[in-house]
Amino acid sequence: MSENCNQTCSSCGETCADRQEAQIDFSEKPHELSHVKKVIGIVSGKGGVGKSLVTSMLAVAMNRKGYHTAILDADVTGPSIPKAFGIKEKAMESSIGLLPIKSKTGIEIMSINLLLENDTEPVVWRGPLIAGAVKQFWTDVVWNDVDYMFIDMPPGTGDVPLTVFQSLPVDGIIIVTSPQELVSMIVSKAVKMAQMMNIPIIGLVENMACFVCPDCNKEYKIFGDSNIDTIARKYNLDVLASLPIDPKLAAACDRGMIELYDGPWLDRLADGLEDTNEDNVKVGGKKMKIAVASEYEMVTEHFGHCVNFNIFDAEDNKIVKSETIPNPGHRPGFLPVFLHDLGVNVVISGGMGGGAIDIFNEKGIEVIVGARGHAQNAAQEYLLGNLKTTGSVCHEHMHHDECGQHSL
Ligand code: ADP
Repeated sequence: MSENCNQTCSSCGETCADRQEAQIDFSEKPHELSHVKKVIGIVSGKGGVGKSLVTSMLAVAMNRKGYHTAILDADVTGPSIPKAFGIKEKAMESSIGLLPIKSKTGIEIMSINLLLENDTEPVVWRGPLIAGAVKQFWTDVVWNDVDYMFIDMPPGTGDVPLTVFQSLPVDGIIIVTSPQELVSMIVSKAVKMAQMMNIPIIGLVENMACFVCPDCNKEYKIFGDSNIDTIARKYNLDVLASLPIDPKLAAACDRGMIELYDGPWLDRLADGLEDTNEDNVKVGGKKMKIAVASEYEMVTEHFGHCVNFNIFDAEDNKIVKSETIPNPGHRPGFLPVFLHDLGVNVVISGGMGGGAIDIFNEKGIEVIVGARGHAQNAAQEYLLGNLKTTGSVCHEHMHHDECGQHSL
């Protein structure tokens, strides 16, 4: 450090060991007359999974609860929000700024379709221009006292969504998936993007989960069985809602009458969003249940024959509850199902057989082996990110049966 250092690296040309490069801040200021309390991004891996439908329905659900609600349609190349709300008029530039259009029930909406002369023309812009338009929806539009703003994000995790996340103060994202997608890959990408951007993930919404026959009420899994619960566990996320394929929803969108939708699917999610306070947008918090295979207080070497499971409930990486459950017995394939049914996301043990590890993994439950010492310390170390699995499987030792290798 030079003698004359005044700690202002940005205006100094010296290269010294203490130099601190300024973090580039890409955030954009909202219009000076805007006031938006909560901004929630709705993302999906690809187009057509129902992201815009979920965005619209969530806005309607929060509006029905009495909140002043808005939708910023950032899906510039596939804007479908105005159609779902039956909005035909164009947005007007006033002396104070660009004004959103109010839907029939008072939801404020801004979309590229409200600005283009001919909304059937495709938007064939390159990424930076699209991202620029979305930024302007934030900086140039007067969003007046909005309690909840929902952003219908462009699909995928490419350049445009990244720029949008950098520029707008997104409090949390909701990931919409459908069973025909490569859900695991999409969720993994979205999780990584959110981590890079430091944005909390509120949870997953599964759309088109099934079709319920209106005549016989039988449920048909048109796109096959859902593995959303397994994926949610793997990434420690909540499944916030599951929507069926319902022709009435498609018809409501087509006719511009989404504000009249009738169904309970998003009620729990809307209640959760309502409960979030100023600083917390995590519906239900980041929860986790950890089972430590134990001999009383201590981590056991032999998973299958442990005396008891010390179960720890954690919220936001802190243990909030602990209980002890005796090992219910050692029958083939039983313990993974038992722990799964208890809602366990992570199992910690000293040793475990490969068969047991496979079954846990299939169920989306993380397995940590090689742990030792006090059970609660092991859970705490796991939550702090300090306890990693050694991956060692008991193959040959004397107690192979006790590790659950053969007896599961
Ligand atoms: P995205 O925003 O992901 O591109 P949309 O929300 O525009 O997808 O949905 C694509 C089409 O599928 C729309 O016509 C919409 O009405 C329809 N759709 C989406 N989800 C459902 C559903 N659960 N039941 C019936 N139709 C649906």
